[in-house]
Amino acid sequence: MNHQKSEQDFARAKKVISGGVNSPVRAFGNVGCDPVFYDHAKGCHVWDVDGNEYRDFIGSWGPMILGHGDPDILAAVRAQLDKGVSFGAPCEAEIKLAEKICEIVPNVEQTRMVSSGTEATMTAIRLARGYTGRDKFVKFAGCYHGHSDSLLISAGSGVATLGIPGTPGVTAGTVADTIVAPYNDIQAVRKLFSQEGDKIAAIIVEPIAGNMGVVPPEPGFLEGLRDVCSEYGALLIFDEVITGFRVALGGAQERLGVAADLCTFGKIIGGGFPVGCVAGPERIMNKLAPNGPVYQAGTLSGNPVAMEAGLAALTKLQQPGVYDQLEHKGMLLAQVLRHAVAQTGIDACVNQIGALATLFFTKGPVRNWDGVSQCDTDAFAVYFRSMLDDGFLIAPSQFEALFVSLAHTDDDIKAFGDAVERALNNVVKYQARP
Ligand SMILES: *Cc1c(COP(=O)(O)O)cnc(C)c1O
Repeated sequence: MNHQKSEQDFARAKKVISGGVNSPVRAFGNVGCDPVFYDHAKGCHVWDVDGNEYRDFIGSWGPMILGHGDPDILAAVRAQLDKGVSFGAPCEAEIKLAEKICEIVPNVEQTRMVSSGTEATMTAIRLARGYTGRDKFVKFAGCYHGHSDSLLISAGSGVATLGIPGTPGVTAGTVADTIVAPYNDIQAVRKLFSQEGDKIAAIIVEPIAGNMGVVPPEPGFLEGLRDVCSEYGALLIFDEVITGFRVALGGAQERLGVAADLCTFGKIIGGGFPVGCVAGPERIMNKLAPNGPVYQAGTLSGNPVAMEAGLAALTKLQQPGVYDQLEHKGMLLAQVLRHAVAQTGIDACVNQIGALATLFFTKGPVRNWDGVSQCDTDAFAVYFRSMLDDGFLIAPSQFEALFVSLAHTDDDIKAFGDAVERALNNVVKYQARP
């Protein structure tokens, strides 16, 4: 596959954009090649600037759950463009999206729209601190909650990919208020609360981890977090920026039946536009300014174009049968991945839940960051480059999910499985090298 134009674009980008990319997860440095520059996309297909066609299993990191270029989202956006692109003032579109979220998501009475997942989680932490009058909070190793200072500690996703242990620029004081626990280890959390539970404002968790690769919660883990929070008067925050409107219409709260005090959304909620949201019951949400003292703001928050796009996306996801289809596609993906692993006899395992999956280059099972960190990332790099050459886009890191959309047909997923088998054979050859 020829990537000449992408290479030229990357050289040009590196001159004027730090590192050549506007988010580190887009760099392909850890898989040993240059990033592909996209030209256009439709359904589950992407074309790069050299004219190469790919089947896309990144989906803009989740938002493209309906596929690229969904006609209903495009129509909603086009209609709004003529009415106004940005108001910085209240408008009906933001009420409609908020009503939709309150209708769909369990335990939510009110919302506040922001422009990214990062802002949503940052606001949730501030709100939890303001509400409880406590400073500390608990997060889990390998979970990623955006790039605000206090949440960058032991974070997954790009932080894990680049092997950055603690980010320079985050002060020691900030680090001291963030307590890190192992995922799926309720005993460790109980111990932390028995030591300083009266100082802990919140637990923030990806209810299904997606940023250290996919790691589902074990039975009892989320229920245990719920109990601990209730017992100690801390808030349980579900960061549903990936899982929201993906693992079920009502997200992980609906799918797993555990109630959070606050939840955060992003990605899918904007239909491809930059939208985040923090949501919860009125008694907590009321603490946000202007009603309450916890300040939060945003010039472009509730942007009418983004709200209309998000509303169109959620309305479409509400149609009957959508989540059965996503479930089927996710299970088929896991099946073809496991088949490829079995055929090649490689040390690898597959985690999958709903339309999310990860192929881990370790024997497994993988249940937390300790397990994830055993993965052979060199093997992943060989696999990644082979998939790219074969016309499949996957996230350029072991520590990310495969994102399936409604636009992927069974044939697309089976073709993906065949490509994985070829890629794993390349990994076997690579591992057998002298
Ligand atoms: C992507 C992500 C975020 C950050 O969202 P941005 O829009 O990239 O700021 C936060 N939490 C989780 C779980 C995510 O996957």
